[in-house]
Amino acid sequence: MDYSWKFDNHELYLINILWLFVIISYINLFSVRPINNVAYFNKYLAMLNSTTITGLLIFTTVSYAGYKLYKKAWGNPPLNKYDDKDQIASIPGHCLFCKIIHTNKEPFYRDDKVVAFYDKYPIGRIHIQIVPLRHIKNVWHLKRSDIELIEHMRQVGERLLRNIDPNGEYVFGFHHPLCNSIPHLHMHAIVLPLKSWSGKVEISKPIFITPEKVIAKLAPKEKIN
Ligand SMILES: [Zn+2]
Ligand SMILES: [Zn+2]
Repeated sequence: MDYSWKFDNHELYLINILWLFVIISYINLFSVRPINNVAYFNKYLAMLNSTTITGLLIFTTVSYAGYKLYKKAWGNPPLNKYDDKDQIASIPGHCLFCKIIHTNKEPFYRDDKVVAFYDKYPIGRIHIQIVPLRHIKNVWHLKRSDIELIEHMRQVGERLLRNIDPNGEYVFGFHHPLCNSIPHLHMHAIVLPLKSWSGKVEISKPIFITPEKVIAKLAPKEKIN
């Protein structure tokens, strides 16, 4: 696998600050045409006076604190602009589900392909996540060879729900990549009824894809002659 260095959030942030500094320096430097090299140099020194440095320090501190607060409240800011979210997530410690899988806070089900755990914010009466051990970003990153995995996830999901509530009404599905909250493939296994109207939105057709549909998409098209 080709692995190239991917920047972390903090690094991206610091790089942006550095760029800002460079841009401000240049605007400052060229805003008045210097008469000669000495004037040029003096102007550059003036730019580095204490007021500028203090201002920059305050700006950096305040915005960094704001960034930290944002991160604490909302998690990682969207990074698609800079990088592939999947690559960021693949760095150990960045993917929530990989963390659960590898740090082994024992999930209630585990086999050689998937783990299962209760959703932290259940939208139905019972809400389980079936998560493959392999880091797959979302359904768009599945290959034909993954059909077996999807079938397995569907089977495990159904088996677990049957153990908990044999007579329940079940819903299984993946979120559309554009509405995916966590960039690690997961199948929702839900026992109805839903808890709120927002749950209804979450499992509505445009953003919720059933495992059957995923398999149909991956399966080779039958030739009709
Ligand atoms: Zn992951
Ligand atoms: Zn989801």
